[in-house]
Amino acid sequence: MSDDSFMVSSVYKPKLNYRIYLLIRDSKEALELTEQINAFGYQVNPFTKADDLVSALRWSLPNAILVFVDGKKLTFEDYEELALKLKKQSNHLPLVIISTEDNFDLRLRAVRAGGSAFFIHPVDISSLIGSLDEFANPTPSVPNRILIIDDVLSQASFYAMHLEKVGMQTRIVTDPRQMIQPMIEFNPDLILLDMYLPECNGIELARMIRQMENFVSVPIVFLSAETDRERQLAALMMGADDFLIKPVKPEHLIASVTSRIERYRKLRSLMIYDGLTNLLNHSTIKERLVKELLRSERDKQPLSFAMIDLDHFKNVNDRYGHSAGDRVLKSLARMLKQRLRRTDLIGRYGGEEFSIIFPNTTAAEAASVMDKLRESFSHIHHLSSDGFFSVTFSCGIASFPEYKTAVAISNAADKALYQAKESGRNRISVI
Ligand code: GH3
Ligand code: MG
Ligand code: MG
Repeated sequence: MSDDSFMVSSVYKPKLNYRIYLLIRDSKEALELTEQINAFGYQVNPFTKADDLVSALRWSLPNAILVFVDGKKLTFEDYEELALKLKKQSNHLPLVIISTEDNFDLRLRAVRAGGSAFFIHPVDISSLIGSLDEFANPTPSVPNRILIIDDVLSQASFYAMHLEKVGMQTRIVTDPRQMIQPMIEFNPDLILLDMYLPECNGIELARMIRQMENFVSVPIVFLSAETDRERQLAALMMGADDFLIKPVKPEHLIASVTSRIERYRKLRSLMIYDGLTNLLNHSTIKERLVKELLRSERDKQPLSFAMIDLDHFKNVNDRYGHSAGDRVLKSLARMLKQRLRRTDLIGRYGGEEFSIIFPNTTAAEAASVMDKLRESFSHIHHLSSDGFFSVTFSCGIASFPEYKTAVAISNAADKALYQAKESGRNRISVI
């Protein structure tokens, strides 16, 4: 499959252009693996000789190198030799091994030679792609942002210095009257708030913050010389997350801030994303549909909405087990993320149902994209303890301006999905 085979119009470009170099001797396996990895939007360049692969690096660098060690035509020694050559070139490309053999010594050798991941043949494609995704797109570590509100600049700077030392970003506000603009711009993950301020006290300020829609749940940690239990209680009652007594030890400050932010981020992500697939959850995708429809109307652009439902998925669970079923859901989610544009919004609508919002896309364009995905997905080999199996999905599409409201467009897409099921499944239906 060529890189642009799922491009349906000049407006519809796949978001990713990831490339994998594959070192493999067995031609049947090569074809098979290439096809499976291609289905997730990665371009695969197979090589039979390590030297050819190393030479190719001079022209363009892939996102990762995958080595299939079959133990006969391509041995662990071959892998080690390649790893050594790569080291000499001093490029730090992720090196992934698929091995037909598995034991402690081989895994140790793999690690020592610089291997980043180790898979056993036959490989579960969903896990392999998960690992490639991680290399192609490492989760960026976003620094924690702390807003410090304290009228004494020297104190605020002292806290800021210690927090920045451990990689956090800070912003200081000494005049509470000036806090709103920096709050909106800086969008803090946590607010450190002095209890005693001129003109108003910290509790009043915290109340004001809680009344601002974007900051209803941002953690607030109070700083104060306050030893009065009543006052602390009042602060905690109105939703303070912690109460640090001045003088605060820097380690204590850092520990409190870090753990509050971690919990806040986890909660926020639970509120938006589905735990199994990491796609947008049902309520978020519904909210986004409303917003995107308003935008389409304003910009006079089309919008398409697709509903996907896996075919006979109950049978999949019954025959191969629930965890194999879960892996199928994850691999479909991965494929959707890889192959759709960054601007398309992908959600898990329910158990084995997914939905996609395609902004600026007509129903015909969306149908063409979905049909290629349907085809690719049906060729994926899912692994179970009983061997490989494949799964298909059906899809219904409706679009704006034909359907104008979120309710109308999702009902229409649902109806189209029903038609796709009725007329034999494993197909796309547009209403
Ligand atoms: P159809 O082609 O008509 O859609 O048939 P179906 O079997 O897919 O439809 P049905 O709605 O009867 O069954 C859906 C199944 O999906 C039932 C449920 O066990 C399974 N399912 C729902 N959520 C999950 C999940 O999170 N994990 C797993 N493994 N299975 C799930
Ligand atoms: Mg269903
Ligand atoms: Mg189903």
